[in-house]
Amino acid sequence: MNKFLSIFCLLLAFQLNAQDDFDYKQFTKVLCAPEFHGRGYVQGGDSIAAAYIARNYADMGIRPVSDNYYQSFSFNVNTFPSSCDVLFSGQNLIPGKDYLVAAASSGTCEKTPCRPKLFYSKFVTGEEFLEKISKRNIEGLGAKENDILIVKNLNYSLDSSRKISYLINQYAQFQPIIELVNKKFTWSVSPVVYGSIYLQIQSSSLVNQKDGAEISINIHNRFLNNHTARNVIGIIEARKKAKSTIMLTAHYDHLGRLGSETFFPGGNDNASGVAMMLSVAEKFKKKPLRNTNVLIVAFAGEEIGLLGSKYLSEHPVIPLDKMKFQLNMDIMGSGEKGITAVNGRIFKKEFKKLQKLNKKLTAVPAVKARGKSANSDHHHFTEKGIPGFFIYTMGYNQNYHDIYDTYEALSFSSFEGLSALFELFVRKL
Ligand SMILES: [Zn+2]
Repeated sequence: MNKFLSIFCLLLAFQLNAQDDFDYKQFTKVLCAPEFHGRGYVQGGDSIAAAYIARNYADMGIRPVSDNYYQSFSFNVNTFPSSCDVLFSGQNLIPGKDYLVAAASSGTCEKTPCRPKLFYSKFVTGEEFLEKISKRNIEGLGAKENDILIVKNLNYSLDSSRKISYLINQYAQFQPIIELVNKKFTWSVSPVVYGSIYLQIQSSSLVNQKDGAEISINIHNRFLNNHTARNVIGIIEARKKAKSTIMLTAHYDHLGRLGSETFFPGGNDNASGVAMMLSVAEKFKKKPLRNTNVLIVAFAGEEIGLLGSKYLSEHPVIPLDKMKFQLNMDIMGSGEKGITAVNGRIFKKEFKKLQKLNKKLTAVPAVKARGKSANSDHHHFTEKGIPGFFIYTMGYNQNYHDIYDTYEALSFSSFEGLSALFELFVRKL
């Protein structure tokens, strides 16, 4: 189907539902669709998502704080927009499944059309690599010209494995390298680019693990300077004169595309969280708080380093001293094992309230607390003294930063219960 036609159909499907209550499943499904390109920096995925979220605010009657819903800011980001082909000894490897291109990797070309580059395999064990690199004896690794070093980072202790990965990252700044792994892939997104290629390949995917095998690599990378991204911000005003504001937040960005065929849907992380935020927002739109505004923020740039929330914390649209609490929702798609509140051990009174309300509503089997952690969009506000929780669900879904984090893999097992719990919690703050 034509790209624009299929976006249109998706939007139409949503429109037909617009009169009813917010359809959180349909909303999540749309954000995870290939037409949203993993909500990253290839083919305007993040902008398409921002526009879709803004339209949902408008449909819900959530109004902008200024003349529109967007707060723009910019950052550098490395992307893989088109060719992404690895042929290993005649075996065609599939991106996301058999191999990953490290987020900071460069490609074999920066301008299209790309041509494949030919390398020959040179396998070394992790120990060998560690030893030779620590002694600055790169020649000792025995790689000849046109060889690509393949480091077997397999079955080591977590500590050794991390050391090996760290040195591979250093090496990739100058020389092409492949890391052979036997653990789940976890992709990311990078604001910097290395001087050379860095691939991770699943050991089980590789049939030929002998030296001298022909490897053809054709990867196009494009480094974007000052890419503009947008936080999407709306407000539900208090019924009477507002004395303070409570912030509901969730990031909508994800990792984007790895080549033209592969994208990272980010279903649990964090289409589900934006859906939860809007589901709770709808309840406040129907029945606003008496003296408290509810600020609704869909953050951009979380995966690249909490940049959207950092920007809002430094350029607040509402004075931070009027901010009473932040409820940040990230990974809301399961809940079979309960939820965790980061900062729960810091803001004990609020945490007890959350636990008590959960007992009443039985939304989830457990509400756990953690201390501080700089792991989502609450962090910069916590550091500025604004009380808040980052809440994530726990359950059977272990797909994280990989191609399997799809809409279809979400159970939504506690979604409606949690939406009711969060509403009640915010009303009682
Ligand atoms: Zn996330």
